[in-house]
Amino acid sequence: MSTTEMTKRSQAAASAKPTGSANPTDSAKTTQAASPSQPATDAPEFSTLSVHGGEARQKPGDSITDPIFCASTYTFTDTQAVISYIEEDQQREEYGRYGNPGERVAERKLAALEGAEDAVLYASGMAAMVGLLMSKLSAGDEIIFFDECYHRSREFCSKHLARFGVKTLQVRACDYDAMEAAITPKTRLLVSESPTNPHMSIVDLDRFGELGRKHRVETLIDATLATPYNLRPVEAGIDYVMHSVTKYLAGHNDLLAGVVAGSKVKLESVRNLRGIMGAINSPQNCYLLLRGLKTFELRITRHNENGQRVAEFLEAHPRIERVYYPGLASHPQHELARQQMRGFGGLITFLVKDADWRETADIVDAVRIPRIAPSLGGVESLIEQPLVMSYYQLKPEERAKFGIPDNMIRLSCGIENADDLIADLAQALGRAV
Ligand code: PLP
Repeated sequence: MSTTEMTKRSQAAASAKPTGSANPTDSAKTTQAASPSQPATDAPEFSTLSVHGGEARQKPGDSITDPIFCASTYTFTDTQAVISYIEEDQQREEYGRYGNPGERVAERKLAALEGAEDAVLYASGMAAMVGLLMSKLSAGDEIIFFDECYHRSREFCSKHLARFGVKTLQVRACDYDAMEAAITPKTRLLVSESPTNPHMSIVDLDRFGELGRKHRVETLIDATLATPYNLRPVEAGIDYVMHSVTKYLAGHNDLLAGVVAGSKVKLESVRNLRGIMGAINSPQNCYLLLRGLKTFELRITRHNENGQRVAEFLEAHPRIERVYYPGLASHPQHELARQQMRGFGGLITFLVKDADWRETADIVDAVRIPRIAPSLGGVESLIEQPLVMSYYQLKPEERAKFGIPDNMIRLSCGIENADDLIADLAQALGRAV
């Protein structure tokens, strides 16, 4: 098969639409095909989009849920059907590496939640990041990062993109002047998280987007820690928004996925490369994701509530030196966070007063509800000491460079009862002295 044919086919499959309307307020009798991302009302609310967004009203087998299609390939009735598919750009499935029906529903739902024209789903958040960067950058190009970010994103750029002749520059998070000064005619992408992981710094999306537009450089925000409920990068004019869907969006600590959202035109090359890379999710995973997304608004509002209450408790505790949480008035960018976020999520980073790494580890070991694990955003609370979990192999001066002190703890508040979480932290802080 020629590359052009493959590209054309993966594009056709990518835009495959379900039959039936996804409009949540349509009458049950509606049979006419409608764009599934067509909003139900003029502006359906988040929970309505979480439940119905991107779905066909009438599904295969009259099932209320989207069935799992366990197929690596999709059949044609005869040769003429294959030719018609290619020549007429028909919208149907072809081969599992280009996507599957459940994945397309998940992509439309995620695009609807993000307020984006399109979304490309991947096997993990890192697959999404790598897929986007590999499809947009060529040898000789440059990208600029705000330096507080997920350490694997940084590693991919500095170690691996460099092998393909792409130069990565890092500037201090939220230093817009430094970022502007680093832009050259070769700069192709400005990249940041917001909030950043694990320091919870807040990037001013208007300033960041404006910097890109002024210099005709595209912008990418990894909004994993915020979610589309709490932050609206597309509405602020950011070109690409990515999420580790593994976290809040899937929400149950039971699958890995990633997404890049943006305009259809900009995502065309991204989708094409994904069809070649094959970094897609299995039909079973897509089903789990769709199931998880149904309760997204319920979960994220609880994460927001728990995050705020636990952060306030920690800030008032005598054993705590500092709490990094944008919902606290003490956060240096609290006002900005209040202006551009609807809630502040469940992730809290804090420092234990006068504690060495072992005394800090004792607190992690003393909690009874949060489990010790990497990751965040799931229904179960998780706790970790970044020094041990992610930076153990680094020398102290390297950890200092990344702003990871020995007494730092990262807590992802799940959806348990906030009083229980607070009581548990109180006993852990009281016991481990
Ligand atoms: N972006 C952020 C902010 C993350 O925290 C992570 C993972 O922890 C990723 C991207 C990568 O996502 P995944 O683990 O789904 O590959």
